[in-house]
Amino acid sequence: MALVSAKEMLEKAHAGHYAVGQFNINNLEWTKAILLAAQETNSPVILGVSEGAGKYMTGYKTVADMVKAMIDYLGITVPVALHLDHGSYDGAKKAIEAGFSSVMFDGSHYPFEENVEKSTEIINLAHSLGISVECEVGAIGGEEDGVVGGGEVADPAECAKIADLGVDFLAAGIGNIHGKYPANWAGLNFEVLGKIQEVTNGKPLVLHGGSGIPADQIAKAISLGVSKINVNTECQLVFAEATRKYIEAGKDLEGKGFDPRKLLAPGTEAIKQLVIAKIKEFGSNDKA
Ligand SMILES: [Zn+2]
Repeated sequence: MALVSAKEMLEKAHAGHYAVGQFNINNLEWTKAILLAAQETNSPVILGVSEGAGKYMTGYKTVADMVKAMIDYLGITVPVALHLDHGSYDGAKKAIEAGFSSVMFDGSHYPFEENVEKSTEIINLAHSLGISVECEVGAIGGEEDGVVGGGEVADPAECAKIADLGVDFLAAGIGNIHGKYPANWAGLNFEVLGKIQEVTNGKPLVLHGGSGIPADQIAKAISLGVSKINVNTECQLVFAEATRKYIEAGKDLEGKGFDPRKLLAPGTEAIKQLVIAKIKEFGSNDKA
């Protein structure tokens, strides 16, 4: 199946009160693990690519071509969107040109009027090509590719303005952060989330920093209109843990255990199992 825009799958999720996971990819193994997990659970899926990961994988064109060829080779039939995560103005345009089916334009660090102006331009360009767009209001805490957000809570009035531009889904800070959550984290701000959903007329909302948010808060966020949940850090942690165990057990020193296809296998399998668990937690299994 060809790549699809994320618009339809997220509108369906919103109406059906579940969420679709965005799982960020870093290389071939990551991509394969996530695609196989989605196929096995019969779930739609969004592959997220940060600008840093795009550079690491030698450009958006390489990524788009790899993902398309892999979908074909593996016989993946569930809907897959390839989405630029926290795209800059130039980055969003480049990803669109390279064949991504969805982009996030993160203008949250600009003065609000400039965010509106640039978001409008990206939305018009993407929509003319059938590509979905996510925009952001209110920076999300923690660090993403060196950009540190202050953990703001978004202004619902600003969210309403961006929603009115015709954005397909909207990310808004509600106390969520990227990376690991600190022990003294205050939790998600459901009051603001409820207000944002109210003023954005049922637009699917996006929860960034989905790694490590307790299941009850995830469920409540979904009930209040969150239809896309971004998971990145947790995949990195399980990959590192499984790889470390393999090395610490000395398996790379046994026979041909140093073969990269063996060395990277436990980490790849760990990502696959985590993604399967997340898909079930978010309720998108059997919704392909
Ligand atoms: Zn994010």
